[in-house]
Amino acid sequence: MNTHRLFARSRLRLALWYALVMGGILGVLGLGVYRSIVQANWVALEREIESIAGTLHDSLEPMLPNNSSPTEVLQQIFPDLCLVNQPCRTNPTLIERHTIGISDRRLYYIRLFDYRGRLLVFSPNQPTNLSPQLNKETWQTIQTLNGNRYRQFTTILHSADNVNQSSWGYLQIGRNLTAFDAENRRILWVLGISLPVALGLVALSSWGLAGIAMGPIYQSYQQQQQFTANAAHELRSPLASLIATVEALLCINNDHNCETQTLLQTVERQGRRLSQLITDLLLLSRLEQETEPNDWTFCCLNDLVSDLTEEFLELAIAAGIDLSSEVSSKEIYVWGNESQLYRLVSNLIANAIYYTPAEGSINISLVSSEKMGIITVQDTGIGIALDQQERIFERFYRVDEARSRQKGGAGLGLAIAQAIAFKHKGYLTVESELSRGSLFTVRLPMPL
Ligand code: ADP
Repeated sequence: MNTHRLFARSRLRLALWYALVMGGILGVLGLGVYRSIVQANWVALEREIESIAGTLHDSLEPMLPNNSSPTEVLQQIFPDLCLVNQPCRTNPTLIERHTIGISDRRLYYIRLFDYRGRLLVFSPNQPTNLSPQLNKETWQTIQTLNGNRYRQFTTILHSADNVNQSSWGYLQIGRNLTAFDAENRRILWVLGISLPVALGLVALSSWGLAGIAMGPIYQSYQQQQQFTANAAHELRSPLASLIATVEALLCINNDHNCETQTLLQTVERQGRRLSQLITDLLLLSRLEQETEPNDWTFCCLNDLVSDLTEEFLELAIAAGIDLSSEVSSKEIYVWGNESQLYRLVSNLIANAIYYTPAEGSINISLVSSEKMGIITVQDTGIGIALDQQERIFERFYRVDEARSRQKGGAGLGLAIAQAIAFKHKGYLTVESELSRGSLFTVRLPMPL
């Protein structure tokens, strides 16, 4: 299947689509899982801060002094915190008492403000560049200069004998987010590594699945090809004997009346046309077969182009067309079947002559470039509309049915030319503009 271009391309396209869709789904899923883990950790972290703040709040409020200069009392209540404008004794046991059961108590810091927002006491481990100004927002995320992040919770305090009136001050409790961020980074790393691995596996299995999906189609295509080849083969012999009989009738018996003679000639002509069609179909199905040909040789493209130019010169002169060729002085060889290559280029030249009006010109050239032999057939003929340019390589496709039929072509010429180019691992392309002419280019790989 992979040696057949159409199927190989379709399989690849199918596999890519599979991989893209599955990759998209996996990506979205991975992102969703990551977001929900981070969100769950964040909610748990905020709950933890809130619960510590609540415990502290409840145990502090009954002890708060009700005067405007509470420094002395605060020193007694908070022996472990630092008083603003006083030397700091670093023995943070108060916060530790209220954070029992938490893995690392040094993650937390406390700050206390009076009702005007003046900082009174703080934990010695609070972030160094934290502003002494009060920000009353309940939740804040703070980032220090060295990149550490803190989540901070602020709550109002009332003194025991002043509960229903204005606040005594504010309690702030913050938690270091370094461990939280590191955990998020670790999850991101795990996802970042496992997602490409999963995508690779998806791509591999997509390729396999696409092969399984294409299998029956390819099989039925092959059966169809075989049927065409068999039918063409079976039709050949009776048709040949029919043409031979008509020819014999025309030669032997000259005393037919004129009408019978004309009828016999028509039968002979149509028989020959049918015979050509069958030969073309057989050639096409042979070209489509995957078997390696054993009749290939080194073919000189210089000779091929010169021979065909000479061969078609008479036809071109008869059509009033100027036929010229430019052949590279360097000998260009390709590995292939000579008669098929002749057929390829002669199809292009015959089309160019037929679809170019009198006084037009046709130029055939042969050059080599990047290990490719390149033959071009350029004409100044009727040209092909852009939307038809892909289709002209389809079997039995003709742009102008009436005109092509006059020529005697069945619309197989370019399909055969392309199949020959593909069989030789080359390409046939067209560039054309209506009423200005066409340029057909054949690229054939040169042996190394
Ligand atoms: P046909 O035997 O009908 O010519 P082909 O497969 O050779 O079939 O060509 C398919 C169609 O491509 C033709 O019907 C014709 O319209 C168009 N075509 C091919 N070659 C040329 C050309 N040189 N200039 C304009 N049209 C072309």
